[in-house]
Amino acid sequence: MCCTANEVLMRHGIPTAGGFTNQELGIMTGLIDALSVDVQCIMPAITEISKKFHTKIITTSPKAMIQGAVHIEHDEHHPKKTAEEILKLACDNFRNRKKTGSHISDKFPLIGGFSDEYIEYMQGGKWRGSYRPLNDAIMAGRIRGVVGLAGCDNPRVPSTGLHQYLALELIKNDVLIVSTGCGSAACGTAGFLTPETALEMSGPGLREVCEAIGIPPILHLGACVDNSRILTIATNMAKEGGLSDEIAGMPAVGIAPEWMSEKAIAIGCYFAASGVPVIFGGESPVGASQEVTRIMTEVWMERYMGALHFEPDPEKILAMALNYIDGARERLKLRKYEPGKFGAERVLMDMAARRELEKVATPHAGVGGSHDPDA
Ligand code: SF4
Repeated sequence: MCCTANEVLMRHGIPTAGGFTNQELGIMTGLIDALSVDVQCIMPAITEISKKFHTKIITTSPKAMIQGAVHIEHDEHHPKKTAEEILKLACDNFRNRKKTGSHISDKFPLIGGFSDEYIEYMQGGKWRGSYRPLNDAIMAGRIRGVVGLAGCDNPRVPSTGLHQYLALELIKNDVLIVSTGCGSAACGTAGFLTPETALEMSGPGLREVCEAIGIPPILHLGACVDNSRILTIATNMAKEGGLSDEIAGMPAVGIAPEWMSEKAIAIGCYFAASGVPVIFGGESPVGASQEVTRIMTEVWMERYMGALHFEPDPEKILAMALNYIDGARERLKLRKYEPGKFGAERVLMDMAARRELEKVATPHAGVGGSHDPDA
């Protein structure tokens, strides 16, 4: 569970059992013999609740020891030895398990493990991988923009619900999503992380591009600490050309609708400092100061083209994100996004129709062609 599990999923393909809010619920099944934690988000009452069941809580990092837990320090030079020690403790504790059976009632297939390198590979293969198809699709208006949908699931809101609402509305609006953190589990349980289900719900332009490349419209990039991968993707888009020359000014927005961890704030700040407008859900922890709020929004926007907003209303979060994307498109003089323009029913075209299409949608036909979508 949580982002440590996202990392294990990303690197080894091992299924995750959910996000941050599932930790206590997992223990309450009575079926968990050992729960090992590192430095990612850990519910503070986890050792207390484990006392009511047989679960052993094991801490592995000297930075995050918890009273009431067993500490088995992770030895970076001998990781297998640490793992074996934890496994042995879990096996020994099995005899104390009173519950039988399984509480897994639903399983959700998902495709995760996208990295900036793999996204490049998907767009052209080993020898011709590039970000050109993505940039071209954004320039032509097939893809309206990109949103990094990241962060925690939070029991103070309808947990996982805000992620699912925003993910669905954004893909309907032809916005490609790169997702990290516990919110990715929310997208997975909604069935949004497989091309088969998610493309049905996507806008026609986004769908067309994702079908051509062979990717889902929501790309699960890993743990919340892997948000740097999102910025690497934005950097690759800038290097590829045709959009903004740097991260700042891209038709891209970061959203953490259910954030609860300080780590999320730190990540939001480096996104804003890199030139990405960021919208957090919930009330602002610094909302009492108009001056701080002005600095985080207007001043940062003026200086870095990034900003940090707090907005509890998910519909307003959506509107703000689309507004930022459309504003960036306008500044970059990209084709105005028109919903439903692309992806109409496919027809067999004659040459005249193909020439027309060429004018509209083939921005760099031929060797040395222009990247201007109007070319
Ligand atoms: S910061 Fe948020 S997204 Fe990351 S592990 Fe913690 S709860 Fe999950």
